[in-house]
Amino acid sequence: MIKKGDNVYVVTGKERGKTGRVLKVIREIGRVVVEGVNVHKKHMRPKKQGQKGEIVSVSRSMNVSNVMIVCSKCGQRTRMGHTMTGDTKTRTCKKCKGEV
Ligand SMILES: [Zn+2]
Repeated sequence: MIKKGDNVYVVTGKERGKTGRVLKVIREIGRVVVEGVNVHKKHMRPKKQGQKGEIVSVSRSMNVSNVMIVCSKCGQRTRMGHTMTGDTKTRTCKKCKGEV
């Protein structure tokens, strides 16, 4: 249901209440990576001798059930449904019924 680029709201866990954009969807394991959410610092080893190691911030994936989509049409936190029009599947917001 969730696609890359969606805005999502975190409903549970320590990041609860945060919103962010979906950077990556890992369908096989039902996880998403959300920009600015579940950020961990990662120490990068220097690539060459004499170089300094770097600390980079990376967003870790989280379970898709921990987030809700923020509808781009009505701006409400919602679940998405699907409707079939002939052979075409459209994703629709359950609140405003708009196509998203
Ligand atoms: Zn909506």
